[in-house]
Amino acid sequence: MHAPVVVLGGGPGGYAAAFLAADEGLDVTIVEAEPRLGGTCLLRGCIPSKALLHVAKVIKEVDELREDWGVVYDEKPKIDIDVVRGRKDKVIDTLTSGLGGLAKRRNVTVIRARGSFIDSNTMKLEGDDESIPEGGQLTFDHCILATGSVPAMPGAFNIGSDRVMDSTGALELKDVPETMLIVGGGYIGLEMATVYAHLGSKVTVVELAERLLAGADQDLVKPLVKQINSMCEGRVLLHTKVGSMAEVDDKIEVTFEGPQHFGNERFDRVLVSIGRRPVTQGLGLENTKVEVNERGFVVCDRSQRTADPSILAIGDVAGDPMLAHKATHEGRVAAEVLAGKNVAFDKFAIPAVVFTDPEIAWAGITVEEAKAQGRKVDVEVYPWAASGRAQALGTTDGLTKWIIDPETHRVIGCGIVGSGAGELIAEAVLAIEMGCEVHDITDAIHPHPTLSETLMNAGEIHFGTATEIY
Ligand code: FAD
Repeated sequence: MHAPVVVLGGGPGGYAAAFLAADEGLDVTIVEAEPRLGGTCLLRGCIPSKALLHVAKVIKEVDELREDWGVVYDEKPKIDIDVVRGRKDKVIDTLTSGLGGLAKRRNVTVIRARGSFIDSNTMKLEGDDESIPEGGQLTFDHCILATGSVPAMPGAFNIGSDRVMDSTGALELKDVPETMLIVGGGYIGLEMATVYAHLGSKVTVVELAERLLAGADQDLVKPLVKQINSMCEGRVLLHTKVGSMAEVDDKIEVTFEGPQHFGNERFDRVLVSIGRRPVTQGLGLENTKVEVNERGFVVCDRSQRTADPSILAIGDVAGDPMLAHKATHEGRVAAEVLAGKNVAFDKFAIPAVVFTDPEIAWAGITVEEAKAQGRKVDVEVYPWAASGRAQALGTTDGLTKWIIDPETHRVIGCGIVGSGAGELIAEAVLAIEMGCEVHDITDAIHPHPTLSETLMNAGEIHFGTATEIY
């Protein structure tokens, strides 16, 4: 069988690239090892985690109603874990079956097989699905490599116990353990800590670095740290190493080495979320000209081209940030390149969102990046305590800040912490992408009373015209 364009991997990078290439008139085949399209994002990442986080948010809000708002339900909420899991699985089923329909409508062929390169224009297909062509081989003119990433699990933690989970295991939500340790204070660890703590587990978070969410500006992280500390009843161990793990009497015994905790403690379950590694092994890349860097990512240029003229790479396998919307955007670039367009990807304003409570979102340059680059910036911060809507919602811990080029007055970065920050950041992404100056934001009328006004208000501080209580 010959395919003009083959996409290896059917995650948000791969299926987006395939659909867009088909829309450009190309004849496209997706090779995906799993029975369903969707990749990490739909099957064991973004979507299941957000379905569970929503349940956690509802539980927290009910608790707050009792404490702060004078609305008392007679009993604490009861959790039916099978229904919670079932709803999450239904969301995944709906979305993945939709993808099958979208592929069919575009005449995109889907082969369910594990693919690897025999050479730069031939792929070996392994599996037992009837979609695999006779001979188990596929030749192609171009391939878009979109094999994504998998959780990193160091040998010391890989002790062969199902009580030690990665993010995939945690999202299966087999039960709500009485005690749970989360190893890693990045966004996946903190999102899963939020889910399990609100479902009723006693959660401990341990992080090797001196702070949580190392990549974000710390003024954004501060309100979240307060919440996480209260949710985990202070069991957040920073600057602490997990030395070893062993299964003892149906528990996992963990050794800590750090200033707050030095010694052993037992947990019912442990989630290891210390990062992800790109999937490049077993792909036969050595049979092509594709190059891999020292961190294991496929090296490609701004048009997603690798060192092999037949192969492009996108998504998690092609480098940081490992985010679904970055994978999708690179998929768009790759599809357009194959359609003969002269396009490239400028990674400047990729938004990052942590879907904890409160949410944290940022885009463009951060204050810490500006400092590291020795770049002079103006920073305007609007505290949500001054927002009428935030006061009404009881979410006054938040803040919105713009990072501004003092010469051009252009907005070059934005950071938000607070309820719905992930939705609010989209306006900032557009502003940064469009090269807006601060007055473009302040001249645009924002609806009142909304949290979106905090973007306008933070800009007004730049001109000294912000209202204190709005
Ligand atoms: P993937 O989604 O990993 O897809 C790769 C596909 O390739 C897989 O389906 C795999 O089966 C297939 N494949 C691999 N090797 C082969 C082979 N040899 N043959 C055939 N098929 C193969 N990102 C966000 O933007 N927002 C979020 O809120 C978010 N939350 C997340 C929460 C969790 C718990 C996790 C784990 C991740 C989250 N992410 C989030 C990250 C996001 O899921 C990834 O960035 C995204 O899925 C990457 O897309 P991709 O297409 O590059 O790869």
